[in-house]
Amino acid sequence: MTIVSPDVKTDPRWSLLDGTLPMLIGGELLADGPTSNIVSSRDRSVVGKFAVADAAIADKAVAAARKAAPGWAGLTGFERGKYLLKIAEIMEAHAAEFEFLDAVDIGKPVTGVRYSDMPVSLSALAYFAGRAQDLGGRSVEVGDPMVSHRARLEPYGVVLEVLPWNGPLWTGVQRMAAILAAGNVAIMKPSELASASFSYLASLIADVLPPGVLTVLNGKGSVVGARLVTHPDVAMVSLTGGVETGVRVLQDTASQVKRVSLELGGKNPNIVMADADLDSAIMWSTMGGFSNSGQICVCGSRILVQKGIYKEFAARLVDAAKKRVVGDPLLDSTEMGPVVGEDHYNKIWGYIDHAVKNGEGELLVGGERYTDELRAGGWYVPPTVFGNVTPGCVIEKEEIFGPVVTLTPFETLDEALAIANDTTFGLASGIFTSSVENAEKAARELQAGQVYVNQWFAPGGLQAPSQGYKTSGLGGVGIEKYLQTKNIFIRSNNGASW
Ligand code: NAD
Repeated sequence: MTIVSPDVKTDPRWSLLDGTLPMLIGGELLADGPTSNIVSSRDRSVVGKFAVADAAIADKAVAAARKAAPGWAGLTGFERGKYLLKIAEIMEAHAAEFEFLDAVDIGKPVTGVRYSDMPVSLSALAYFAGRAQDLGGRSVEVGDPMVSHRARLEPYGVVLEVLPWNGPLWTGVQRMAAILAAGNVAIMKPSELASASFSYLASLIADVLPPGVLTVLNGKGSVVGARLVTHPDVAMVSLTGGVETGVRVLQDTASQVKRVSLELGGKNPNIVMADADLDSAIMWSTMGGFSNSGQICVCGSRILVQKGIYKEFAARLVDAAKKRVVGDPLLDSTEMGPVVGEDHYNKIWGYIDHAVKNGEGELLVGGERYTDELRAGGWYVPPTVFGNVTPGCVIEKEEIFGPVVTLTPFETLDEALAIANDTTFGLASGIFTSSVENAEKAARELQAGQVYVNQWFAPGGLQAPSQGYKTSGLGGVGIEKYLQTKNIFIRSNNGASW
């Protein structure tokens, strides 16, 4: 199987990176001033640059957003929705460019963007375009026949959305669509490790929305992110990222009692019972463990396998890991590309080396650095499986966020559930079984915001958004997190009732 192709070098889409990718502030594209390099995960080379903000630019952007907020909130849902549909049309026309940018920038295989990130982004724009006309709100009987009640859901005003690097396009577009549909204006802060695709989106839609309704600001979290998070005119902060950053944001906003929503990390248990359909469990567990090189918050990185099938499951997972095509993310044939960057690459190898050195389970496959020219030149980590891993050890407990899974044998479902729940995270979880009883018991007892039964990952992130349990999440999800509720009480006899 080809892992690198020579004609990649002549791809005309390289010209997208000829200039500086801009930011969007008050309806203007800003490419002058400070920049940061785009370092390609494919080969560690500098392939382009994007504009970055400082505190003064961030303040200017917030002022422009604040000015735009009342006008945007005053539009009808239908009018706001039409803007979102226009953005979808533009994005779809440029799909191939988005594939290219994420592949070059963060090493995401082009097929990952084509068949997942792009459709998710487009359906989010369409879904929230509709939701803009139906924001919800309910009416209840309040115990006095002369008083009627209705709840009205209102936007906050200026909403800051801080993005992770692992799915910059879909996480960004999905959240942007919800913020705007709810009637807020959006300040999007992509990760400093993955700013290319969202900056490119900004350049395509700069003149679609009224000035200030959408702001795209690049830069380091510790500088631009921190400034925006604490800005008094930013009414609500939503972060998708690591737990440590989430805690920091809570601390930084506490004195302002700011509305905060956090969608954070996970270390997700995948329970495979002996009565499971093994072909299906292997297929989904491989996808769940290694998709996007394990850099998905809901990846199934802790696989718990019932003893009767443990040996066979381990052998077949190893086989599937060996067959995974790890190569140039620009090729359609590639299933797994490199990981995002130097620090993350070193972090993942740190976990692998730690596990090998300390005997945290037995290394069944992977765990060795590539030596061929392509993969030694980029930040590639092979699909890696550790077997017979003791619950509670470092690689079983901490979020590695790479293509590394642990296998732990267990006897009974009760034992598996106890291991599964013995974590500070609670993002996703799953079980493979042919027993309805097992499935229902796991669904009741797993302590996580999502439970997958006989599959991994799930459609329906828009219609049924999940809030992580424990340290994995806080403060609401979906469009609701961008809305505040006002209860309105109306007396109809215009006088005292006693
Ligand atoms: P990260 O926490 O390092 O960074 C996330 C964002 O926060 C970046 O844009 C960064 O610039 C910004 N940031 C950092 N410090 C900040 C500060 N002090 N103030 C404001 N902003 C700051 O996370 P990451 O490495 O980009 O992403 C990986 C993590 O995200 C993993 O833990 C993963 O599980 C999690 N994640 C969760 C979900 C979910 O939906 N729950 C989705 C994707 C990723």
